[in-house]
Amino acid sequence: MLTGDALPELRTRVPGPRSRALAGRLAAVESPNITRVSPDAPIFWSAARGANVLDADGNLFIDLTAGFGVAFAGHANPGVVRALADQAEVLAHALGDVHPADIKVRLLERLAVLAPGDLGVAILATTGAEAVEAALKTAVLATGRAGILAFDGAYHGLTYGALATTSRSEFRAPFERQLFRGVRFAPYGDRDAATALAEAERLLDEAERDGPPIGTVIVEPVQGRAGIRVPGPGFLAGLRRLCDGRERVLIFDEVYTGFGRTGRWFACEHAGIVPDVIVVGKALSGALPISAAIASGALMRAWPPSKGEAIHTSTFLGNPIACAAALAHLDTIEAEALVERAARLGAVVRARLDDWVARYPHARSARGLGLLQGLVLDDGTETPAADVADAALGQGIIVLAEAPDLDVLAITPPAAITERQLGHALDTIERIIAARHA
Ligand code: PMP
Repeated sequence: MLTGDALPELRTRVPGPRSRALAGRLAAVESPNITRVSPDAPIFWSAARGANVLDADGNLFIDLTAGFGVAFAGHANPGVVRALADQAEVLAHALGDVHPADIKVRLLERLAVLAPGDLGVAILATTGAEAVEAALKTAVLATGRAGILAFDGAYHGLTYGALATTSRSEFRAPFERQLFRGVRFAPYGDRDAATALAEAERLLDEAERDGPPIGTVIVEPVQGRAGIRVPGPGFLAGLRRLCDGRERVLIFDEVYTGFGRTGRWFACEHAGIVPDVIVVGKALSGALPISAAIASGALMRAWPPSKGEAIHTSTFLGNPIACAAALAHLDTIEAEALVERAARLGAVVRARLDDWVARYPHARSARGLGLLQGLVLDDGTETPAADVADAALGQGIIVLAEAPDLDVLAITPPAAITERQLGHALDTIERIIAARHA
């Protein structure tokens, strides 16, 4: 039985024989693009609890990814597990947009209380990308303007509508011909907020002239997959100003940052900005696929009332088990003060990363907010952070590389990780980095 607070214990070389056998079987039945199979990866998860993951070979790891940022309160959080199991016993599925599950109302009411400012009327969805698309549709209905402003480095998901606003060429190139062309990309304001804002304004003006006029500005308040990029002071406030009173809807994609990851409930609080729509996913439920686009009541009234056929819905909308998991996860985050814990542990992580930057020449910089921290590495190799991540896996630490060049090591553990686990994981990574620099 996993306790969740253990240090790594490896029984085999990583990946072990069972994981390697599973990788062989997987290669025969899964599209080759999905799972990278190499001598170093993957391991196959068979159980997870707290900050621990157990693989198919019985190796025990510390997870510094929180499972792509989902398991904020820890994997298999007891409150979440109990709630979803109880819900599964009584009602596992309903008619989401016709005769919904009663629990959907409770979750929407809860989101209305938690969401910043006057945001409190939502569209539930299943994945982050799908909620992004619900937000994009809301904005075009509200403004009647088809153009979109997004940002270099943006990652909003890979379904076609979301992909049109995702900037990375490796995701776009094969599908470019089928992507909406009315999206313009401005520089993200992490290096030079004033220049980025000026360019954003220029693109908005250009779109007024050449079309389609921009009705939507979509931005991550901290870019996650681009390599944990934090905007400079004034950037988000500047975007707010560019949208105020101009038939432009400001969407904050908080799929990665929402529900405590940055040490506040929502990353927009760091900038003191309330967007027009906030998009959340990942840590909403801590376990199951559920996401939401949340706007003000006034903005949501851009949608026509359903006359029996919702023009935007899906089969699993408001799935009761996912709603139950989300309510329990939000309860746990509140009851265990995990947002504050993320801020405190985030400072611990950041102090270590800053120290590495001071001592190891190839640790170039550290950046992030709360428990969304990144270490930029440059040691002359092609994918330095991915190499460190592979080495860390071999020593019982699951950690991911981000950014197009895989040169940013992302430290995003569950907020429930113990200080002993966190210290051990960081010690392990430091030894790997020190050895690469020796
Ligand atoms: N937006 C952001 C900021 C994300 O980080 C992600 C996923 N990493 C998405 C959207 C897409 O979410 P999903 O993978 O659930 O579609």
